[in-house]
Amino acid sequence: MSGLTDYYSSGINTNGGEFGAYRTPTRRHRGQDISHSSKPGTVGVPALHAGRVVGKLAPSTKHGFGYGIIIRSVLDGMEFDFTYAHGPWASQQAIGEWIPQGKIILHEGNSGATQGSCVHIEQQRVGGGYLDPLPEIRRVAAGRLTEAAPAPAPAPAPAPAAPAVDHDVVCSWNWGGIQKMLKHYDYGYEGGIDHVASKGGPTLKAFQNFLNRKGYAGRAGVGTLKLDGDPGDKTIRAMQQWLNESGRNAGKVDGIPGDQTKGAFHVAEADNYRAFPNVW
Ligand SMILES: [Zn+2]
Repeated sequence: MSGLTDYYSSGINTNGGEFGAYRTPTRRHRGQDISHSSKPGTVGVPALHAGRVVGKLAPSTKHGFGYGIIIRSVLDGMEFDFTYAHGPWASQQAIGEWIPQGKIILHEGNSGATQGSCVHIEQQRVGGGYLDPLPEIRRVAAGRLTEAAPAPAPAPAPAPAAPAVDHDVVCSWNWGGIQKMLKHYDYGYEGGIDHVASKGGPTLKAFQNFLNRKGYAGRAGVGTLKLDGDPGDKTIRAMQQWLNESGRNAGKVDGIPGDQTKGAFHVAEADNYRAFPNVW
């Protein structure tokens, strides 16, 4: 036995509190009343079945429910709304909340139109009519568990973060031929032909100067490069623009120094190395 089966095994009012009992000559009772105490607020009402909170009710002149809560459950593959009414205060559950079977979701009370402290339970087929909830109450009292809820749809996976682009990888490329060209055309490179371009160093600063003065940076859409020797996105785009315009096919001007850009760069580097044999 559990609180759930204990609760629904007793207190069922079959003396006018049952489904179909006449309330007026034309209006019948649409649910089942259950009461375990005459004192409002002293007895918690466990959810007949697991489900999701789809509605809450507050005292109103438009209905006699008083404080209530509506939980949608799936039973035998069909959806039902269970309404629990007459709470002494508002249910503490939130709309959209998942309610496990047996969780206390309201207390017996006397808000709304009621003749004593009780809970009024209705069962409605979603999109359909009202059923007498008593058979379901009896099944739960006998131990019927809510069937496994359908697994919630997995949350969409967050979009994978774009991998960080390692622009500095160009520093590991061979810059000897570029150094010769930069020196020959006086782009401000004063160092030797040591093939090395360090971040922030003279080779990359002069290379940025070259990319600006020859218009590659502008045509790559990155404006004028800062001569800081830092091979960022803009510098790589300008480099790709230069490689493409000079027929070395660096691929997309996307600022990513990938294999195609690297291959094109080394073709250009070798060409320049041969083109300026007297620069040392
Ligand atoms: Zn009732």
